[in-house]
Amino acid sequence: MPLQDKAARRRRRWRIRLLVATTFAIGLFVYTRQFHPEAEAVPAQRAQLAQRSRAALPPRVDAAVLLGDQDALADPSMEGRGVGTPGGVRARDFLLARFTRIGLAPAAGQSYAQPFQFAPGRGIRFWRKAWWQAHPPVAGVNLLGRIPGSAEPGKVIVVSAHYDHLGIRDGRIYPGADDNASGVAAMLAVATWFKAHPPRHTLLFASFDGEEAGLRGSRAFVARPPVPLASIVANINFDMLSRNPHGELFMSGLYANPQLQAVIDPVRARAVPTILYGHDHPRPVWDDDDWTRSSDQGPFAGKGIPWLYFGVEDHPDYHRPTDTFARVDRDFYVSVANAMVDVVAALDATPDARIARAR
Ligand SMILES: [Zn+2]
Repeated sequence: MPLQDKAARRRRRWRIRLLVATTFAIGLFVYTRQFHPEAEAVPAQRAQLAQRSRAALPPRVDAAVLLGDQDALADPSMEGRGVGTPGGVRARDFLLARFTRIGLAPAAGQSYAQPFQFAPGRGIRFWRKAWWQAHPPVAGVNLLGRIPGSAEPGKVIVVSAHYDHLGIRDGRIYPGADDNASGVAAMLAVATWFKAHPPRHTLLFASFDGEEAGLRGSRAFVARPPVPLASIVANINFDMLSRNPHGELFMSGLYANPQLQAVIDPVRARAVPTILYGHDHPRPVWDDDDWTRSSDQGPFAGKGIPWLYFGVEDHPDYHRPTDTFARVDRDFYVSVANAMVDVVAALDATPDARIARAR
């Protein structure tokens, strides 16, 4: 082979490599430009909130009832509240009694119960008949109760918290005291307060099942909604409210719903827990810190319904048998539940046009 041919081919190879590398670099640059890491600025929020004067409001939540509800749901007798398990049925019986006691009206037709079914697993083996025969559909039940609105009964704010958890695995109970007995007990506290202080909007309290299996209950809710989706003004979702070493609670949702910041700013200025905004802007595929679809607000977000999600950052007992009631930070949790009443009250007092997403 002639020498100059060899040199020409080497040059061409290098040109192709350079072209590939440049295209990759430009692609990466364009891809990362769509993310906004500056959107949260959490240290600046902490510094600003350190100046606030806390707790201008008297407590609205009965701490003993709140902690008693959380303790009961996280009790070993509930066996971790796995979807489709006897422990899940016991948790449901407990919640039905609480809904009745509080005086909520049934919101799934004449009943509190909204049953649904789903296929276990990821749904990629649907053609394998033998696999399906070994894995029958799982039955879940959402519990739905409501307080009718005094001014706008046709407009609905959905306050939600999943009651299922991981059940029993390898012979060990996963009590899920923080995840998410805490959210459910706080939801019951919010319901109790509004039963005595009638809201302007209808409040629909949704205790979802099957969240840990892939947001199954909330997906079933938006697929077969008990009220028209267009009548749902907003979804406020609670998931993990009861412990954080720094007394911090995150609120996600303002990136998608910036119109709600003016509603929540006054609430967080007087809240005892430190409420930080974040975990809600789009991120690169290798960064899973966007919580938009990590709990039951996800299906509401998918339908374009304004949403806010409250929850703490993961802790060492997250999704472990050690997520027990004994490890809950009771003072923090009670302060969070009081703040959640304030959040729902602020939203309920806001005209619908200011809650609606700008289009
Ligand atoms: Zn959870």
